[in-house]
Amino acid sequence: MKLRVKPLNRETPGNGIATIDRESMATLGVNNGEFVTISHGNRTAVLRAQLSQNRDRQRGIIGIDGQTRKTLGTRIDQLVEVSSADVEPAARLAVVIPEGLRIQGDIAAYIHDKLANRAVSPGKTVSVTMGFRSLNGESNRRIPVKIVGSEPGGTVVVTDSTAIDIVEEPTDSDDEETESTDADPPGITYEDVGGLDAELDAVREMIELPMRHPELFQALGIEPPQGVLLHGPPGTGKTLIAKAVANEIEADFQTISGPEIMSKYYGESEERLREVFETAESEEPAIVFIDEIDSIAPKRGDTEGSVEHRVVAQLLSLMDGLGDHGQITVIGTTNRIDAVDPALRRGGRFDREIEVGAPDANGRGEILRIHTREMPLADDVDLDAYASNTHGFVGADLESVVREAGMNALRRVRPTLDLDAETIDAETLDGLAVTADDFRRALRE
Ligand code: ADP
Repeated sequence: MKLRVKPLNRETPGNGIATIDRESMATLGVNNGEFVTISHGNRTAVLRAQLSQNRDRQRGIIGIDGQTRKTLGTRIDQLVEVSSADVEPAARLAVVIPEGLRIQGDIAAYIHDKLANRAVSPGKTVSVTMGFRSLNGESNRRIPVKIVGSEPGGTVVVTDSTAIDIVEEPTDSDDEETESTDADPPGITYEDVGGLDAELDAVREMIELPMRHPELFQALGIEPPQGVLLHGPPGTGKTLIAKAVANEIEADFQTISGPEIMSKYYGESEERLREVFETAESEEPAIVFIDEIDSIAPKRGDTEGSVEHRVVAQLLSLMDGLGDHGQITVIGTTNRIDAVDPALRRGGRFDREIEVGAPDANGRGEILRIHTREMPLADDVDLDAYASNTHGFVGADLESVVREAGMNALRRVRPTLDLDAETIDAETLDGLAVTADDFRRALRE
């Protein structure tokens, strides 16, 4: 049957799960915890079905994460074909892992843990995430694990009794790209943005429709929107929204930093703006992202004739020149909406303004879950409690609380580590956990 793709609920752990509403589960003849095959074009993925908690009681909906959407080449709101899948428990699995992992000890057990309950099939590469998400500034540390054989063959599920063999890359392995692209990081997806569903949808709707169906706008005789202004305090996720939307609709993303273009490119600001718009035009569909737009376009008044005046005039003319084909949208952000030149806020330019405020307790919970997704948490960690106690914290603050908590956990195990060793024990990695006490201390700072 056909189901409509939605982002995965952020409270649902990623790794190989699809959420489906009760009625669709019944139609598919699938029970909670059984597997479904999802196909789109000639690509397929097998995921474990989980009953969705969707509060709106929507039917015909399947929630899948950004990684799977990418693997399937599908987008939010597209239809995919879903059917029940026959998946046998795996007795053995042969996998190839990248060289130079710098982990020693029982790596097979570690990989087994990461693959547990997931459906896998030979020829595909599964990326498993490792350790702390945000510790090293990388958003994800993914290890591509290539499945090269299974017993029985075909799609199998990794159970407690599955034996994992780590093997050398078979020399006869045909080097042609296997169909799976699961190892490519998907970039920022909807699942990475917490507490801003309405804002994300508003931005996406506004940008995606004109990009996909400009003829709708032409038929109605209205100009597609050319710009959105996201405003709100720093660190609330404005940049994240822009990146997630660009990624979801597969638009090119060009960034301009307002302060930078006025200082670093002093004297060439207009030229630089023009270049960015030209690049966007050659890459369309594209989003031109202008961070801190108030520094380019402050309210004019006494700055008449100044650099700012010329730069605003240039920006206006570039935006007016985008025409009505809707393939390029400008997203501007500002912390000070009142400081933005009103000329930019008039019709046809930034004609939509979306406020991105500080998150409420619910949103804070989502954000904490996102940033602890790949973090081993001790049982005493109570993210909901931290969410209620962090009134006034924005996403960036919560991210740094999580990072601090992770650092506290590291400091605890550090005395037991041999810092001179080239590699680290898989057991040590397994034993790492961030505790309530680590969070308490992080929150006190
Ligand atoms: P802004 O553009 O509003 O100043 P950013 O989008 O750059 O803020 O956010 C900075 C960082 O804070 C992000 O990279 C992310 O790690 C974290 N963050 C902020 N808001 C959110 C959110 N709503 N959900 C998840 N993470 C967030």
